[in-house]
Amino acid sequence: MKTLLWIQGLSCNGNTQSLLNAEAPTFYELFSKIKLLFHPSISYRQKLSTIIKKLEKGEEQLDFLVIEGAVSSDRKFHRTGRYTSADILKILAPKANYIIAVGNCASFGNIPALFEGSSDIYGVHFKFKEKKGFLPPDFKTKSGYPVINISGCPVHPAWFTQTVTALLEGREIKLDSFNRPKELFMYLTHDGCIRNEYFEWKVESEEFGHKEGCLFYNLGCRGPMTHAPCNKILWNRTSSKTRAGMPCLGCTEFDFPLRENYFETKKNMGIPEEVPLGVSKRTYITITGVAKTLKNERVSKKLEETD
Ligand code: SF4
Repeated sequence: MKTLLWIQGLSCNGNTQSLLNAEAPTFYELFSKIKLLFHPSISYRQKLSTIIKKLEKGEEQLDFLVIEGAVSSDRKFHRTGRYTSADILKILAPKANYIIAVGNCASFGNIPALFEGSSDIYGVHFKFKEKKGFLPPDFKTKSGYPVINISGCPVHPAWFTQTVTALLEGREIKLDSFNRPKELFMYLTHDGCIRNEYFEWKVESEEFGHKEGCLFYNLGCRGPMTHAPCNKILWNRTSSKTRAGMPCLGCTEFDFPLRENYFETKKNMGIPEEVPLGVSKRTYITITGVAKTLKNERVSKKLEETD
């Protein structure tokens, strides 16, 4: 049976909470196919230090090494009173068949990497957009894959369980330029959002939580610039932020914590500073002008008032 070891660096535990809500496959279905060597929130019989020694001696194989949280060698962030996350990675990275960085902190450093005096805090393979994470830029695991980043704050549990399942079944996973599985991150949050018609006709939501309107022009929605399948693989199989009337914050991208005013669209002379991916500013302005002139009566009304 393949094995999986989950370790935490500087983390809020959010990805673990997310994993426990996995539904397709469930947490128990996944771990009936794979031996969980250790998880800091779940394992109470095993000690991490004992498992690490066994792996060091080759008494146990390591197929999946999963890291949640940013990596640091600062001793005040030690684990088990002995190892830092950096120590564990140094020992185990050469032994693992696959390394998965789960969440934005492990993928890019994220909020911990912004702490004052944080030059020693990294993502596993990246620090923000640079391949200057803890492991060297050309690092590859024994399987030939680099560190697989499943970014998000937190990640949807299915993004993790489906990636592990695909690898268990020996399927090839294509990665994007940030080493994220393309099957998941080739989509934008915008794809599949139920507010797309409002986006096309430039009808804006006036407030958070309203059923009508798009959140792009005033309320800071980053759906058209954010690689994530949030409107394809729904949260709790039910909804997403943008479906519920909350703007996408772009939490799967490397620059998530570097931005300010998450609920406001930055504009220059009335034009959003950032326009949807793949569209030039000139095209965006032209389309906006046309859409506003050719008003769509139906989408201009409250949904309850339409026939
Ligand atoms: S709310 Fe966001 S994701 Fe939805 S259509 Fe508008 S811009 Fe796109």
